Amino acid sequence: MSDSYDIVVIGAGPAGYHAAIRAAQLGMSVACVDKTLGANGEASLGGTCLNVGCIPSKALLDVSHRFATTKDFAALGLKVADVELDLAGVQAHKDSVVQKLTSGVGMLFKGNGVTPYQGVGSLLPGSDVKVTKPDGSEETLVAKHVILATGSEPMRIGAAPVDNDRIVDSTGALEFTEVPKRLGIIGAGIIGLELGSVWARFGSEVVVLEALEKFLPSADERIARDALRSFTKQGLDIRLGTRVLHSENYGDGVRVTYLVNDEEQSLECDKLIVAVGRAPYTAQLLDDDSAVNLDERGFIFVNEQCETDASDVYAVGDAVRGPMLAHKGMEEGVMVAERIAGAKPSVNYDCIPSVIYTHPEIAWVGQTEQELRENGQDYKAGSFSLGANGRALASADAEGMVKIVSDADSDRILGVHVLGPQASELIAQAVIAMEFGATAEDLGLIMFAHPTLSEAVHEAALGVAGHAIHAVNRQRRK
Ligand code: FAD
Ligand code: AMP
Repeated sequence: MSDSYDIVVIGAGPAGYHAAIRAAQLGMSVACVDKTLGANGEASLGGTCLNVGCIPSKALLDVSHRFATTKDFAALGLKVADVELDLAGVQAHKDSVVQKLTSGVGMLFKGNGVTPYQGVGSLLPGSDVKVTKPDGSEETLVAKHVILATGSEPMRIGAAPVDNDRIVDSTGALEFTEVPKRLGIIGAGIIGLELGSVWARFGSEVVVLEALEKFLPSADERIARDALRSFTKQGLDIRLGTRVLHSENYGDGVRVTYLVNDEEQSLECDKLIVAVGRAPYTAQLLDDDSAVNLDERGFIFVNEQCETDASDVYAVGDAVRGPMLAHKGMEEGVMVAERIAGAKPSVNYDCIPSVIYTHPEIAWVGQTEQELRENGQDYKAGSFSLGANGRALASADAEGMVKIVSDADSDRILGVHVLGPQASELIAQAVIAMEFGATAEDLGLIMFAHPTLSEAVHEAALGVAGHAIHAVNRQRRK
């Protein structure tokens, strides 16, 4: 007899495991099917994020940042003997964090009564799920509701086919056992910049080839400009307007040919990272007769509530429209579990924070000035430089700024943009303020502890009305 559940979730990444745990908390019987195997051949829950995404990349970013900043110690009055890189030790640290968190999801499943299944899940017509186990055996789970959370995979381009040796994707780039002397990266998006930062700090000469003429087009224009200058100073050679045409092995490395101003140029490197984006992953997921549809870009088609075209089947996370971010999938997973339980929550897609974990970090939520201008919306802006923030100066880490834009009439905050250390943490204040419909004046009236980086958020809010204290305001108002 088949096992039956109130909910079967396919995919145990952040979107799927949040859905599963929340549904179990709400008293439903839940199974979660996932196919990922760790290096030890055992199930490794947590999806891309915990295994080969957010977490391992942040482990390498944080360690490499500490390594790179030791050279600044002398200016702070600290003498250290030469700091040496032990890359095997760094990788062991990264792997142990991944192991701790992926096994932690297993423990959370156990504690909440979620039944895990190892294997590939496929949605059969209706809402039953077939699980194909690693040994090839099959089992059918009977489900009242199914949540598809199969995530995404690195996008491929014919111009640089990944061979997992010289040409790697983001997963391969987290596993280098030696620091490449010359590292090429295709794509100056979030993943390309983060991985480029890691290996540049460890000593690689990094060249980033980016097809677009504009650097980080979704970020605030001023912040993107300042960030480009900062990354260039750190040794990232970011070449905009360069479209990669093809790549070929030569000697021990790769020769990449690219087009710039209609002229072919080439780059020789030891390793090449392809970081041109991610595509939704739905291989083997849908039976031919399933009523679930994909959109024209291959995402599972859903409405605002993450309902697919098939009744009782939902889809969440990277496999559906919207930014491919772990926290966006987590909130969708929780929303769907609660809606199945009869509640009516929704996800506020206008308030999703974006973060790039370089140094300085870049974080934003809401709209940019350029978007508001394009939409013809009147707005006010206030910004504050970390160069005038006591805490940032005390920590010798004062590169960056906070910018707040608010509606010209209502003063309601429309967007907050941060470049600086801990921008990823500072942006949470902006998300909270915007979720509560705060005005810039509201933020300006709140007391912030001194000395903190957060005071820059306060000052930027005061700056919207022209009365930041530690800045000479261009417009003076009462
Ligand atoms: P996934 O995490 O991709 O999980 C899907 C799971 O489903 C996987 O385990 C997969 O094997 C499994 N699966 C797929 N099909 C089936 C099937 N048919 N049967 C069974 N199992 C199946 N996002 C952030 O928000 N912050 C970051 O700092 C960040 N850094 C990143 C760094 C890198 C290098 C990368 C690659 C990504 C990063 N991301 C980051 C993106 C983030 O990892 C994804 O947005 C997130 O993992 C998506 O979650 P998900 O649950 O939708 O899918
Ligand atoms: P993201 O979508 O944020 O992961 O960023 C991926 C980046 O890769 C985008 O900015 C693309 O413009 C860039 N890109 C895609 N294809 C190419 C290519 N053939 N050559 C150079 N850059 C590319």
